[in-house]
Amino acid sequence: MEFPSKLIEDAVNEVAKLPGIGKKTALRLVLHLLKRDEEQTQTLAESLVAMRSKVKHCRKCHNLSDNDLCSICASHKRDRSLICVVEDTRDVLAIENTAQYKGMYHVLGGIISPVEGIGPSDLHIESLIERLRDPDGDAIKEVILALSPTMEGDTTAFYLQKKLRTFSIKISTIARGVPIGGDLEYADEVTLGRSILSRISYE
Ligand SMILES: [Zn+2]
Repeated sequence: MEFPSKLIEDAVNEVAKLPGIGKKTALRLVLHLLKRDEEQTQTLAESLVAMRSKVKHCRKCHNLSDNDLCSICASHKRDRSLICVVEDTRDVLAIENTAQYKGMYHVLGGIISPVEGIGPSDLHIESLIERLRDPDGDAIKEVILALSPTMEGDTTAFYLQKKLRTFSIKISTIARGVPIGGDLEYADEVTLGRSILSRISYE
């Protein structure tokens, strides 16, 4: 692609580094920004920089948050006896969208994947154990494993179940209404909501 401007070329190259965006789309977006008020681009750039530098992970559940504790962990309206274990923040959003779950979460920050070299120690598993062990913490009665029905998801669930078995809590898994090989975030809200309500004991 020949660019009439080095500045445009730089912007296109940066935008094209985002996943799912090719050079053509990047150019379209950049030209769109040039057509809009300069102030709008300023606002966009500032919100991205602020988001990148200020968003943190909740110290309790590792969900993305603006504060030390995320809005779910800080809420008094949630059922603290339930922890739903998910791979990442997108799963929290998907489950929250169903409006069927009122418990807490624990975000692993990934999934066990030997192929990608991700082992248990790369995930927030120890802090989950700590939450169960903490005598001053919440009285947790049940941990729901809401992981993708993939080989990696199954491996992670199996590993967690072995670790959690030592505690006298119920361990359950979401029902398999979710299509095999599909990620939680792509499951439709009704199916996902139903699968959380009709969760089953982990065998
Ligand atoms: Zn939290």
